[in-house]
Amino acid sequence: MINLESPKKFKPLINQAHQVAEEVLRPNSRKYDLAEHAYPKELDMLAALIDGLNDSGNGGAGATGVRRDESKSEGNRNGTNLSTVLSIIETCWGDVGLTLTMPRQGLGNSAIASVASDEQHERFDGKWAAMAITEPDVGSDASAIKTTAVYDEKTDEYVLNGTKIFVTSGERADLVVVWASLDLSKGRAAIKSFVVERSNPGMKLIRLEHKLGIRASDTAQFVLEDCRVPAADLLGTPEIDAKKSFAGAMQTFDNTRPLVAAMAVGVAKAALDLTREKLAEVGVEVDYDRPAAVQTSAAATLLELESDYEAALLLTMQAAWMADNRRPNSLQASLAKAKAGRTGTDVALRCVELCGSVGYSEGDLLEKWARDAKILDIFEGTQQIQLLIIARQLLKKSSADLK
Ligand SMILES: Cc1cc2nc3c(=O)[nH]c(=O)nc-3n(C[C@H](O)[C@H](O)[C@H](O)COP(=O)(O)OP(=O)(O)OC[C@H]3O[C@@H](n4cnc5c(N)ncnc54)[C@H](O)[C@@H]3O)c2cc1C
Repeated sequence: MINLESPKKFKPLINQAHQVAEEVLRPNSRKYDLAEHAYPKELDMLAALIDGLNDSGNGGAGATGVRRDESKSEGNRNGTNLSTVLSIIETCWGDVGLTLTMPRQGLGNSAIASVASDEQHERFDGKWAAMAITEPDVGSDASAIKTTAVYDEKTDEYVLNGTKIFVTSGERADLVVVWASLDLSKGRAAIKSFVVERSNPGMKLIRLEHKLGIRASDTAQFVLEDCRVPAADLLGTPEIDAKKSFAGAMQTFDNTRPLVAAMAVGVAKAALDLTREKLAEVGVEVDYDRPAAVQTSAAATLLELESDYEAALLLTMQAAWMADNRRPNSLQASLAKAKAGRTGTDVALRCVELCGSVGYSEGDLLEKWARDAKILDIFEGTQQIQLLIIARQLLKKSSADLK
């Protein structure tokens, strides 16, 4: 029978993540929302703790742990994908911007974990990696990137040229995983990812964004000008295989979309918990044994939002569980991202509405969560793009058939 509880073995990890959220992230939440671009030094002390969790094989607070386990053992596995989403839900209950800027937990780490060779995995271990796909004229359609990588056989290096925008943790990370084309005339099959050291003189940070939400997380723009990268830092194979190449790069999203879904679930949980508390203070309590229709409008709304939250949570856990069990999960990763992305935004905004002026003022964090939530329905593929992927999968259409 299907068991919808969180696995018992992850309880200590979940409790630890919740404690971090309560004692470190929440108390610093407003401070770094107001001090955009200031480095949250309080997170440095967490780095060792998170590394310990990752080393223990139990996953951590961010993206580092989501390497697929290739061992042959059969049966039900609750592995690092599931433990990581469960701990991310807790840290994002604390603060999503600060979770995104946890040292060594970048989305680039997940790309490395997903596609790097064992040698590269070892070499980049312990480094913090950002992810650079988006360009000034390229967002949702990642296959249209214009950044180029030309092989220089004299030095056994690739030479990268182009511009990358909206790179989360681009200023603070040690490495940036850059998507570039080996041959623009060969389309998506020629797109490869390259691990570029942040200190590489060919990659210049030219600006940091000012944003609606997740202001604790830095978002950088880079220009790559004859940026030389050792050939050994190309992730995956240099061959241009029309069948496999782009699918390989896109597989990273099967691991990262459940993580972003988990972030949205965490924000929704934070908003619901606080709203429940605020409503109880004025005498509105949900009665779970009676139909919504016979309760106050506020209680019925809370019930509706809680059911959306549960659906988003279960889809997120399902997508992560499938990754742990080596099952193809592109459809489930997009279902989770679409449902959780929308739920995070809806729940946070409707909680602001339920709490009125308390929800809207800076005295509490509800207004901030409503701002923070929106990005989770945009990056790693927007709501519309997830729906498109889901439709393609269900109708068995290719990206050329259904655009
Ligand atoms: C704070 C922040 C952090 C980010 N971090 C990163 C990062 O670390 N690395 C990175 O590479 N990128 C990052 N991004 C970029 C992000 O992934 C893109 O913004 C996103 O993919 C959407 O691209 P776009 O903004 O160019 O919008 P567009 O692609 O121009 O889309 C605009 C609108 O059109 C819709 N749309 C587009 N195509 C279709 C279609 N075929 N059918 C229906 N609707 C469609 C979209 O859903 C959207 O609503 C970040 C962005 C932000 C704001």
